[in-house]
Amino acid sequence: MGTLLMVALAVQGGLGSGVTLARQVPGVPFVLTGRALDVVVDYAGGSLAGTETLHLRNVTQAPAGQVPLLLNRLMSVSSVTDPAGATRAFRQDIVLFEDDPLLQVDAVEVHLPRPVAAGDSVSLVVRYGGHLVGYTETGSLYIQDRVDHDFTILRQDAYAFPALGVPSRRANRTMGYDAFDFSVRVTVPEGLVVATGGEAAEPTRRDSLVTWSYHTVTPAPFMAIEIAPYEVLSRPGLHVFYFPQDSTGAHMVDRAVAGAMARYTDWYGALAGDPQVTVIEIPEMWGSQASLAGGIIQTADAFRDRGQLYQLYHELSHLWNPNDLDRPSPRWNEGLAMFLQWRVAGELDGWTGWDARLDRAEQILKSRCAPPRPCGTVPFARYGQEELTDLSYTVGQVMFYALYRTLGPDAFDRAYRDYFGRYRDTGGTAADLIATFHRVDPASDQIFRDWYATTTWFDRLGAGESVRRIVEGYARPGAGGPSRLHPDRVPFQ
Ligand SMILES: [Zn+2]
Repeated sequence: MGTLLMVALAVQGGLGSGVTLARQVPGVPFVLTGRALDVVVDYAGGSLAGTETLHLRNVTQAPAGQVPLLLNRLMSVSSVTDPAGATRAFRQDIVLFEDDPLLQVDAVEVHLPRPVAAGDSVSLVVRYGGHLVGYTETGSLYIQDRVDHDFTILRQDAYAFPALGVPSRRANRTMGYDAFDFSVRVTVPEGLVVATGGEAAEPTRRDSLVTWSYHTVTPAPFMAIEIAPYEVLSRPGLHVFYFPQDSTGAHMVDRAVAGAMARYTDWYGALAGDPQVTVIEIPEMWGSQASLAGGIIQTADAFRDRGQLYQLYHELSHLWNPNDLDRPSPRWNEGLAMFLQWRVAGELDGWTGWDARLDRAEQILKSRCAPPRPCGTVPFARYGQEELTDLSYTVGQVMFYALYRTLGPDAFDRAYRDYFGRYRDTGGTAADLIATFHRVDPASDQIFRDWYATTTWFDRLGAGESVRRIVEGYARPGAGGPSRLHPDRVPFQ
């Protein structure tokens, strides 16, 4: 039996007379396949209200009769119906996550009149509203979300709309995720611009309110909606939404996007279709996020300082990630993005700093691996299960840099191009990636073994070897390093 898992305060009973409940939080039997959001943002009240229609599929082997949803702790659900308007019973409680006493949400359980058979789908229309507040107290300092004229973001991080999930980080990690289609209608006062990924329809006006509509062209891994007095720079294939004071930066971003997209396309192949890239500026420290379908949400530093453009190169590189099928994922894509962000900065902006980056990586690994963290027993391959994915960025960056140095740009790019081409439509796993690199050059095996499958890198650091030395040690006499193609940009001499 599990221990006491959750403390719940019943909403109906009032917070003062809170009822303490202990219950085991079950998993989530559904995945989201589509959502349609229609909300009005009330700037005077700091709140929003509207409806969200969720399309869900039962991905378990058993019938499922309950749909668990999460919502911001200062919001509530007022009704749930099916798309035809038939009422669905539900219960909602303000609760703490079973495994995070700082994370408080409105946990909603919708009871379906008939269980949904395995593999079948169901749609729900949830009417909800309330104040939007952030979640900085959980340690996620970037979730400062609130309704503010200068900038408002509606995203799942702050549960600004009902999202599939239960109040348990553990249970939510095992939940299936698929990319989903979304459409949004967001009504705001005149003068504000609503931005998100996907295709825009012409805004409609009523009195002093404007309704902005978007829908995805291809499924997106997330939905985030930004609202600000944005200005927009548009050309075929690119929209940049930027704060009025950053117009110089917007042009710099425009050139950086074009340059980076050209490099990635050259190295890894074309993206599907005729990609439309949307870059949306958000304030510093609010958390960048990127997908082709969902939009590239980029903090303002990259609009104000050329030296910060690597963040944009990082996000753009994620467009070349096939869907990650490892669950929970060790997130090696983040290590690849860290490597590619600096590689592109080197090629486009003349950045030269690999020595310093590797030294920095060594410092980070040594400090983050101080006991009791199990860096010496948990390999990168299990960072997803063991919740060590904050290390994936640094360990992965060194691993991909070592692969690049050892195989040389030709073979490195051929291997990742093969992986991207083969798994772009189906999604892929780390095992698929490793096998693809092996086919191109078996010299990759030892690097994946040392940095991914085992904790050898940790032992070698512990024995006093530097990261630089470990990386250099993989090089074979006569192997083509970067020097062969880019003699002016050799990171190691
Ligand atoms: Zn990333």
